[in-house]
Amino acid sequence: MYDVIVVGARCAGAATALLLARQGVRVLLTDRTAFPSDTISTHLLHPTGVARLRAWGLLDPLLATGCPPIDTISFQAADDLVLRAAPYPCDGAAVSLAPRRTVLDALLVEAAVAAGAELREGVSFQRVVWEDGRAVGAAFGGRGGAFTERAALIIGADGRHSAVARQVEAKTVRDVGTFGCQFYGYWHGLPNVGTQIFIGGGQAVLAYPTHDEHHLVLVGWPHARFAEVKQDLDRHFLAAVGTTAPAVAEQLTDATHTGSITGSGDLGNYIRESAGPGWALVGDAATAKDPVTAQGIGDAFAQAQSLADRLPTALAAGPQAVDAATAAHAADRNRATSAAFETTLTFAMGGNSGALLPLLRAIEHRPELISMFYGIYAGQFTMAEFATAVG
Ligand SMILES: Cc1cc2nc3c(=O)[nH]c(=O)nc-3n(C[C@H](O)[C@H](O)[C@H](O)COP(=O)(O)OP(=O)(O)OC[C@H]3O[C@@H](n4cnc5c(N)ncnc54)[C@H](O)[C@@H]3O)c2cc1C
Repeated sequence: MYDVIVVGARCAGAATALLLARQGVRVLLTDRTAFPSDTISTHLLHPTGVARLRAWGLLDPLLATGCPPIDTISFQAADDLVLRAAPYPCDGAAVSLAPRRTVLDALLVEAAVAAGAELREGVSFQRVVWEDGRAVGAAFGGRGGAFTERAALIIGADGRHSAVARQVEAKTVRDVGTFGCQFYGYWHGLPNVGTQIFIGGGQAVLAYPTHDEHHLVLVGWPHARFAEVKQDLDRHFLAAVGTTAPAVAEQLTDATHTGSITGSGDLGNYIRESAGPGWALVGDAATAKDPVTAQGIGDAFAQAQSLADRLPTALAAGPQAVDAATAAHAADRNRATSAAFETTLTFAMGGNSGALLPLLRAIEHRPELISMFYGIYAGQFTMAEFATAVG
């Protein structure tokens, strides 16, 4: 008998397991994959997420893996307009990071195990075990054979296509659709000038440094172009970089491309009911939004913290207290993230482009407001707050 079974062991599940295990909660952490393992995702982490890693004692271990701190962002919004500033700080963290998921997720998993969580890899969640309308356990299959375990709470941290969400019949309370697609690859040998963002020609190009002296270069297109670009990905990718970010295209000619270009058009924006009797959802299983604002990993961390702050006392008090705690967590999550959800939708739909340019021209020589503009991407400010500050 565990207190909690967590299904999915990446940035939402492993972080939740870590924070709970550190408080003495008996956690079974499960994943169908084995770590280290990559996943389809770019991986920019704003100072908001970096601050959480620092609070959890994981920032220094992550930096020690050779993950380069990013203290400058440049944003080319028009041929004659390049904004350059530091990321907006959060709790004293003033850098972004872009850790490879092979490294970040494995670090979280190792920390959870070191804190006392039991890890079972290569096991695939199959179904919830119910008793009197309450989730009381989970059944698994996979390489290690079939088994069932019981717990006071089943946490689904199993991503966008969450099997736990399906099993508990979590209602989708908001489903706004899909607006973008993103493709990316890795190059060795680009100069480290921080995160570079280029917008133009109906597409966006980003480049930022990551592990092993590599840069991730990504192209974001409207979802309407997904089928077309997939047919000849390398050609469309390099053409987009050449058109929208000629400076990066030039850097790529002398750099070494490692691996292949990959990405996803599975970028729907939704919010699911995230708590019920004996179950809760965290991370993309609960809510996801277009990666245009790069908030998914930081959001997963925030949800893990919110749930872990409430659960240990509730677990000691019994099932009703557990359900009250998970319901309060879900309600707070909705309140805390609704503005960032709407902002992300506006960016994903390209809805700011016209209105934004005059504001950006007004802040060209005001680095503190440029940082605040980046803070919108990190969910620290709304567009309205930024517009008011610009005056
Ligand atoms: C193209 C793209 C670019 C992105 N760029 C960024 C970015 O720059 N910055 C950012 O912050 N976010 C970004 N995101 C979002 C980010 O990847 C997600 O928000 C984040 O991975 C969510 O973490 P999670 O732990 O909730 O789920 P996931 O990372 O999806 O992990 C779910 C885990 O559950 C496991 N699992 C699933 N089903 C089962 C099962 N039945 N049994 C056992 N285990 C199971 C999987 O193996 C997986 O390990 C991007 C996403 C995409 C698609």
